[in-house]
Parts: sequence; structure tokens; C-alpha cells
Amino acid sequence: MPDGAPPRPAARAAPAAPPRRAGPARTLRDAAALVRAGLVAPEAEGAIARVAERYAIAVTPAVRALIAPADPADPIARQYVPHPEELATAPWEVSDPTADGPHSPVKGVVHRYPDRALLKPLLACPVYCRFCFRREVVGPEGGLLGEAELEAALDWFARTPAVREAILTGGDPLMLSPRRLGRILARLGAMAHIEVLRIHSRVPVADPERVTAALAEVLGGAGKPLFLCVHANHAREFSPAAGAALGRLAAAGVALLGQSVLLRGVNDSVEALEALFRAMLRHRVKPYYLHQLDRAPGTARFEVPVEEGRALLRALRGRVSGLAWPTYVQETPGGGGKVPLGPAFEAPAPGGG
Ligand code: SF4
Repeated sequence: MPDGAPPRPAARAAPAAPPRRAGPARTLRDAAALVRAGLVAPEAEGAIARVAERYAIAVTPAVRALIAPADPADPIARQYVPHPEELATAPWEVSDPTADGPHSPVKGVVHRYPDRALLKPLLACPVYCRFCFRREVVGPEGGLLGEAELEAALDWFARTPAVREAILTGGDPLMLSPRRLGRILARLGAMAHIEVLRIHSRVPVADPERVTAALAEVLGGAGKPLFLCVHANHAREFSPAAGAALGRLAAAGVALLGQSVLLRGVNDSVEALEALFRAMLRHRVKPYYLHQLDRAPGTARFEVPVEEGRALLRALRGRVSGLAWPTYVQETPGGGGKVPLGPAFEAPAPGGG
């Protein structure tokens, strides 16, 4: 177990019966299903059911296959399997920590910086990460923009020529059908002032089967440069299936970036970060951002102090090339945007030793 990490739930330490398989594996969406899969001990089912009343749960078959249930500190389980501590909100934790709400000119749009804006076409995800900063709004009920709402959001982009970059996020935009996603990208791409499209997604690692040839074709044929920002926090998330999905995207001409969150018990060591960023590069994914945890309710067990994060990155610098080096950033509370956190390095004096 990593230093400073809270103990794993008693539920995880208990021996579990092997899951019974009947038909194709399904996404696990409630406490009972997690117990049946051996990811939660039966005596913890009640506590996990209370977590589920507050925050969505989903563990896809692809993620389930990556989890080592016998390991109480498994870094994959820690990201996706709910924990009773989520029911406790620390005094410093806030709803909507990135302040999307106050920066939303119309439903589904967040405009925080002059030259770029977010479009959130839906709020469903393939998995529900236990540290998510939007955990109070994402969920399987979807938050899908209706036709009129989507039209109003696209109209806002059309009427806002200062915006050069449209960023699709959510939820996870790759949960949309290729047809619907293609229509949205085509509308945005046809706007002369939109120069770049970006999509943030967990799908390539958490549900790689969704990256079909049809989806790759839609993304690769968007008509404007499209960057897909893949969210992954541990090297093991790059499974063979994820690798094949990323290969399909790269072959279709999609530029791939990586974004990660610094998480206690998942990637809070130099070795884990090195392995993560090297895995990204092997899959043609350029590490882009390493985020400091946003203080959403019930996420305190994941927090790594900023000074510790800086020390980790300082130690990493000599071990990996600049290609494997993301920018370590923190969202300013209240929606002020991202601030690079360093670490700062001093160049040796010219001619110095
Ligand atoms: S996939 Fe993204 S939006 Fe969805 S729960 Fe995970 S971090 Fe949150």
C-alpha cells in the first residue's frame, strides 16, 4: 500500500467467489453487481449502495479484466470501484470545483477563455471515475442535449467568432453514435473561425470496443485538425484492446494527446508516472497535461500535495525525454483557468561546470 494512502475497504480484502459468467460480460452498475464480480465484499454492499445513491457507478468488462481482485491496493480498482469514504465530504471540497456553471452562456457550453470553449453534448461516460470533478452531474441518465438545445449550443459557437477551438467533453463524447458525433463535428468544422477541434475521452482505454472503424473514420474525417485527448492514469490501462483502438484512431489521422490526474495510490511514484508516460508514447499518445486533483466531494483519499507532485516531476525529468513530459497544471478555484505548477529548473550559468 502506498505511503499515506487510506486503507483499502475491508470489502476488498475479503475473499470473493469467482464471478459466474452467463452470456457476454456486462458493465457493472451497482453494489450487488460489484459483489457478484468479486470486487466488493458482501458485507460492504450496503455502504456501496449508499455511495451509488449519490454518485454513478460503471465498471466496463474491459476495466474489470484489468483489475487484480486479490490486490487490495490495485491501482485500476482504486480508480473505478466505489469506496465508502466517498460519502464523507471534506471541508475544503466543493461542488463544481472548476466553476463550469457560472461560465455557461447556454446549456451545454462553457466559455472560460476567449479563444476556446467547451461543448458538453452529453453527461454519460463508459465508466465513472471515483475522483471525477464532474461527479455530481455525470451519470447514465445521460444529460443528452435535446435537438433544440444542441442547435442553441451550436448557434452560440457560430455567433462567437473569437472562439478558434471547440472542445467536446462531457461526460464522454465518444459515447455518442458515430453518426450523431459526425454531425456535430461537421457543423463545428464548417464554421470558418473554428480552426481546431478537440475531444476529451476515456473510451479508448475504458471501453476500447467502442472505437469502431466507423467512429475512427468520423474522427479522422472531421475536416479540421482534430486532437483526441485520452484520459489514462496508469500504464496498465493500455491493454492490447486499448492499443488496437488507439492504432485505429492513429491510422485514421487523429492526433492523440494524453491527460492524466495525479492520484494517491494510482500513480504517485516516479516509477508509476514514468511507466504511464512511456506507455502513452508507445501508443502514439503525447502526454499533454498532468492535472492536480480538483477537490470534488468525497475525493480526499486521492489527493497528493502540490509540493509532492513537483518533487515527483523533478525526479522524473532526468529519466524521460521531453516527449514524455506533460505540463503539471491545477485549475484555479472559481473557474479562473489552469495554472502550470512547475517544477521550476535553473539553467546552469553559461560556461559554468
Ligand atoms: S470519464 Fe471523465 S467525465 Fe466521466 S467520470 Fe471519468 S473523469 Fe469524469
